[in-house]
Amino acid sequence: MENQFSKLVEERQDELLQLLADLVRFPTVSPPARNTVELQQYISGFLEKEKFETTSWDVFPEDPNVVGIKKGTDGFRYNSLIINGHIDIAEVGDESEWTVPVFELTTKDGFAYGRGTSDMKGAVAATLFAVKLLNELNIELKGDLQIQSVIGEEAGEAGTLSCVEKGYSADFALVVDSSDRQIHGQGGVITGWITIKSKEVFHDAMRMNMLHAGGSVKGASAIEKMMKVIAGLQDLERHWAVTKQYPGFAPGTNTINPAVIEGGRHAAFVADECRLWITVHFYPHETYQSVADEIEEHLNRVAMADPWLRENPLQFRWGGKSMIEERGEIFPALEMNADHFAVQLLAQCHEKIEDNPAFIGMSKSVTDAGWLGEAGIPTVIYGPGKLEEAHSVDEKINIEELLTFTKTLMLFVMNWCNTKK
Ligand SMILES: [Zn+2]
Repeated sequence: MENQFSKLVEERQDELLQLLADLVRFPTVSPPARNTVELQQYISGFLEKEKFETTSWDVFPEDPNVVGIKKGTDGFRYNSLIINGHIDIAEVGDESEWTVPVFELTTKDGFAYGRGTSDMKGAVAATLFAVKLLNELNIELKGDLQIQSVIGEEAGEAGTLSCVEKGYSADFALVVDSSDRQIHGQGGVITGWITIKSKEVFHDAMRMNMLHAGGSVKGASAIEKMMKVIAGLQDLERHWAVTKQYPGFAPGTNTINPAVIEGGRHAAFVADECRLWITVHFYPHETYQSVADEIEEHLNRVAMADPWLRENPLQFRWGGKSMIEERGEIFPALEMNADHFAVQLLAQCHEKIEDNPAFIGMSKSVTDAGWLGEAGIPTVIYGPGKLEEAHSVDEKINIEELLTFTKTLMLFVMNWCNTKK
């Protein structure tokens, strides 16, 4: 079959590029987001034409998810598959730095340029094109095939989580986000807010009474107290770097970044509140809950050593469902079982098409794949496009790579959905 697929994809590549051009034309930039209705309608329409039953719902206003399911001919006994891709794209920044149009596909020197080509409208176009060609070839799929076209990945507004919450599941899931066609698991990310809040508010002139013996006012600057929290986080980060590791990751990947600090109200006051926004990276065998617990426990001990903080305890707020609405996000980690039959099958399909063994390892980035893994669905990341292209000026994807990915995907879908559970 692989030769037939290869030939067909090569012959019809202009159609794939046309499809990609259609997707790129929708400016689904996030943030600001709330701009994906038309593109999702386009994708629903495409899937319905290919005999998928589609459902759509708003994850946020003007940002719907689309799930299309093509029922297999023997879905009870044969494996089902989710192919998941996000259709929101990264911010553009200064358009004048681009040498090609941002939302109009430009092809030159074997590359297709435009925002989202690599991350990840190229992969979504390839997925749609693969199911279209499989249909045209009348290839029977005995197991169910489910396409999840999700919103919100760029701003931590996991549309994928919304699919999971609605109960969409399968025997295996493929997140086709940029991985340079390597088969990846991933570490996780959680953001958190640590707040120090004084019970009282003092005018700047009161500072002298807070500092010296006999001053008699038991007060403190929340900003100054936050310095102890930051020092505590640095200690913990260093401790993690030497005590935790995971195969496939450089030592010290598990960082704690004090990313944003806010606090104080005015130069005429002693700062009564200070908030620190941190970004925490963790390893695939850890959960965001356990990592948050570790940080809280450590910082509460730091606070216990300070008489004022003992009476004004640290407040924590972890994660969130949106960087836009809540200033918080979670990307769960994804442990990967390289021995899982589907992973081995994907590696075989890759090798048949590419004549090179597939690399199976860990992503340097995070994707929505963690949500599917957390829901108990065996999942890997496998997609075209390079990580360094994602979010870049003059974003591009190698056209040859896009064709190669399409062929491998066709082969994998056909084989997996025709394998008995
Ligand atoms: Zn992406």
